[in-house]
Amino acid sequence: MENKEWLFDKSQQELEKFCVLNGFKKYNAHQVMRWVYFYQIFDFAKMTDISKSLRGGLINNFHANLPEILDTTYEEDITGYSKKYLIRLADDKTIESVLINYNSRKTLCVSSQIGCKMGCTFCETAELGGGRNLSSGEILSQILLINMDTKEKITNVVFMGMGEPLDNIIEVEKSLNIMSDNNFLAIAPRKITVSTCGLLDKLKDIEKFKYKIAISLNASDDITRSGLMPVNKKFPLKDIVNLINHKKPSIHNKITLEYVLIKGINDNILNAKELIKMFSPSKVKFNLIPLNKEKNSIFLKNFERPDDNAINDFKVKLLKAGFTVTTRFSKAQSINGGCGQLTAKTICFR
Ligand code: SF4
Repeated sequence: MENKEWLFDKSQQELEKFCVLNGFKKYNAHQVMRWVYFYQIFDFAKMTDISKSLRGGLINNFHANLPEILDTTYEEDITGYSKKYLIRLADDKTIESVLINYNSRKTLCVSSQIGCKMGCTFCETAELGGGRNLSSGEILSQILLINMDTKEKITNVVFMGMGEPLDNIIEVEKSLNIMSDNNFLAIAPRKITVSTCGLLDKLKDIEKFKYKIAISLNASDDITRSGLMPVNKKFPLKDIVNLINHKKPSIHNKITLEYVLIKGINDNILNAKELIKMFSPSKVKFNLIPLNKEKNSIFLKNFERPDDNAINDFKVKLLKAGFTVTTRFSKAQSINGGCGQLTAKTICFR
């Protein structure tokens, strides 16, 4: 197996090249990928509509072994359940994914890196530092593994697990192409959210980006934001405002501004007023995330969750200004799978 390539790391174009170079038809690549991603059959011998010689060629050159689920943690209430997966990759590194299965929507929060070098001060993943990028196959196999584990199809994907997806844009785009293709994983682009801490240089082609975008904002002024998110020193708030305000408005695809509410840091009603001045309800919606804090967290010892009245006042202020506002009381919190709590011991705070 050492010399065999991992099939899940291949794009359709790469597999087409293999087929053509080895005397097979270009469309055979599409057939193989349909078996793998649509039917989720990973045994080449069972791919009955392709020739015996191609099956042999695949067996000799590729393997389609999925990573291993090492551990799971489960939490449920009357509306659904969350399940966190600890997954071991081929190099023995571990990542986490969280399935959030509520109200018949099966959302998988996927990781895109091992650790993260963005250094957000409220995020437990940042504690791990920069590790390495995940390959497209390592991203896609999180979906495949959890589809198999639950025997149900993932309906929505959010890149809010470990890592900053735009810091690994090549592999993330490669995985997006396969997961959104109707012939393969068939998850509609409008059901896929790419969440970024604000790497704006990777969003230059924002008008062409067909997936949902969430930007982790978390402050209404540069001093506070730079204190929470070092990325703000390179891409300050005015750049985020410019990018968003120059984007064509889209009712169906507004940018989500994620805002982690932290007591005494960014939860003042004046912060809400500043946000109202900066952004337009026609371009963005807000997702307020009251801080998730693991019990006894030493890492987050300087941060507190605001009380319910402060959360509600902040929300009402934005609502009255015409914004769509959701408040995410993070599912999976008690299993340390809420935003900002994936550290492979155990997700990105977005
Ligand atoms: S919040 Fe996201 S971008 Fe920031 S350190 Fe955590 S994983 Fe990285």
